[in-house]
Amino acid sequence: MSGSERYAKLFEPVRIGPVVAKNRFYQTPHCNGTGDWSPRALAGMRAMKAEGGWAVVCTENLMVDAWSDISPFAAVRLWSDEDVPAQALMVEQVHRHGALAGCELAHFGIAASNRVSREPPLGPSSRLTMEAVDPVQSRAMDKADIRSFRRRHREAAMRAKRAGFDVVYIYCLHENSILSQFFSPLVNDRRDEYGGSLENRSRLFREILQDTKDAVGDRCAVAVRFGVKQLEPNRMLEDAELREIIARHAEMPDLWDVCVNNWSYDSASSRFAAEGHEEPHMDFVKTLTSKPVVGVGRFTSPDTMLAQVKRGVLDFIGAARPSIADPFLPRKIEEGRVADIRECIGCNVCIAGENTFTTMRCTQNPTIMEEWRRGWHPESVPLTRSPDPVLIVGAGPAGLECALTLGRRGYAVTLAEAAHTLGGRVVRESSLPGLGEWIRVRDYRAYQLQQLSNVQLYLASALDAAQVREYGFSRVICATGATWRRDAVGRTHVRPVATEGAASVFTPDDVIDNRVDAGPVVLYDDDGGYLAAALAEKLAGDGLSVTVVTPHTTFARWTAVTLEQERLMGHMLERGIEVRVASALASVGSGHIECRCVYSGASTRLEAASLVLVTSRVPNDGLYHALIDAPADLEASGIRSVLRAGDCDAPGLIATAVFSGHRLARQLDAPDAADVDYRRELPDAD
Ligand code: ADP
Ligand code: SF4
Repeated sequence: MSGSERYAKLFEPVRIGPVVAKNRFYQTPHCNGTGDWSPRALAGMRAMKAEGGWAVVCTENLMVDAWSDISPFAAVRLWSDEDVPAQALMVEQVHRHGALAGCELAHFGIAASNRVSREPPLGPSSRLTMEAVDPVQSRAMDKADIRSFRRRHREAAMRAKRAGFDVVYIYCLHENSILSQFFSPLVNDRRDEYGGSLENRSRLFREILQDTKDAVGDRCAVAVRFGVKQLEPNRMLEDAELREIIARHAEMPDLWDVCVNNWSYDSASSRFAAEGHEEPHMDFVKTLTSKPVVGVGRFTSPDTMLAQVKRGVLDFIGAARPSIADPFLPRKIEEGRVADIRECIGCNVCIAGENTFTTMRCTQNPTIMEEWRRGWHPESVPLTRSPDPVLIVGAGPAGLECALTLGRRGYAVTLAEAAHTLGGRVVRESSLPGLGEWIRVRDYRAYQLQQLSNVQLYLASALDAAQVREYGFSRVICATGATWRRDAVGRTHVRPVATEGAASVFTPDDVIDNRVDAGPVVLYDDDGGYLAAALAEKLAGDGLSVTVVTPHTTFARWTAVTLEQERLMGHMLERGIEVRVASALASVGSGHIECRCVYSGASTRLEAASLVLVTSRVPNDGLYHALIDAPADLEASGIRSVLRAGDCDAPGLIATAVFSGHRLARQLDAPDAADVDYRRELPDAD
């Protein structure tokens, strides 16, 4: 049976109220950190999903009015008619590829601090705003506020219809939605017909849903995005009441798009949840409604997708992250090219974009959000007119991506790697607890490289400058990575920390290579990224007593933006790993360390048979410098250019290394790059 026959059920059309989706692939609403300052980039990104075969492509949250101003997050607004053209642009581009366009109308209620609009936050009751640190409270909405909100929501729905959307959402998810806030007896202490009984607490939801149907339901499907279960410890609503709300309104919307609360459980990283993880929490929904149901679960396997549809769990395969990692996922399944799927690794670097107010990036897909800015397509690259032989040294994520992209461009590529395996840091890091899926970065590229006859791979081939010069390649790219420091230089310490000669000091690579075998272990984290928690878990799993010390006031603070920090902290506590924050390394002795409180300067001595330093890295740029520092030798050997990519250039995230290798490959034969090598949407200053 061919791939397309086997998965034919996934390509059946499905009716959603007045519209029909051409298949079951549904890009659910997802944020991207871009907001409405770059509508062309947003439209380009969504259109690529439509081209890649998704039947429905949705926006992120569109804020319906100025009382839902979630600044500093990069929001998209549908506050007034002036916001319609940006949305119409996205709709038109999505329609061009035969997909339906959906929009998610949202109001964040007491989760919006309204910093820019300066309106008072609104909510069912007066409460401190939830998503921000501002000491600001909401106004308990009176009847006039409720009437105004309903009017503005209806007007936003009509704008959405004018922009051409086919599916218009009511947002009722997580604690961010004003409608969910009304549901919650913890946040809603009203005594009128909008508070008290569940019937009353769900009244505003019912009214908004009916208003939207009345306003746009003749031509647009009206969908509800609903959090069916709260998994976080601080729950706003019990499961039975959530279920009851669905049951009472089961046939009202044209579609239910369901997932778990809160966002860190819904968009759980692969450390915490595997593919299809939401099924046990939402499989009851289809028993309550005859309307189509969309669900997510970081689906990348067509067999898992098919099984969920066949078992009657879902009608649509919802996806945000898998559609970011591979916008062409549906087309690849339809064409029987399952091995070509670039599977999401669940690292949540994409979500870090939203949480750092930055355009989204993806570890697996370096072209995401570059469709309009740089004109990049995830599935095609321009062929080169000068297919020079290129040597790439180092097969980590940067070298692999560079080799793959250059190979696709038609260059004769040789990739030399010192180790016996491809993958560099990805192989090492993915061996740590919770990071196993990250090996997909290597596996996708290794398989694709095997398909290219113009790329030669050489393992166990550590090259020095003399060898590189001997081979006679016209271009050389150093992708030789970086090495963790042993002297504690990082963010907090700009000079090496005083260390006694006999101290046992280790790096993350030593932990991965099982060289740390004596406890107690102190793991000192000044990197603040994703690695320290995984290393600590491994050491604790090896039976060692572990204390994590960090000069920062929050452990692994960067992981807050990947929605992992709180859950990682939980992991530390569950595994008996002590975490000491705000404690800087002062000196390293034999069998102990001295720490200094960053607030008071008070010293503490900790026993440490082994000290693991997770601080910063040194680029492995020795080969690069040995080549460029001898220009006469270079010229004599016929090498026209020596460039560097990835961590050898500037150590960073794996996503940064992949992007670096990709960009270098696209631009290898370009004239000298401009200082700003992408299109920008400039402020209109008329
Ligand atoms: P990046 O993230 O930039 O791709 P990595 O550290 O993951 O960096 O990968 C760099 C790779 O380069 C490693 O697999 C390493 O073995 C390899 N490497 C480093 N120096 C050399 C060299 N001189 N010759 C061949 N391979 C090298
Ligand atoms: Fe998946 Fe990571 Fe890409 Fe997000 S950044 S889509 S989690 S691979």
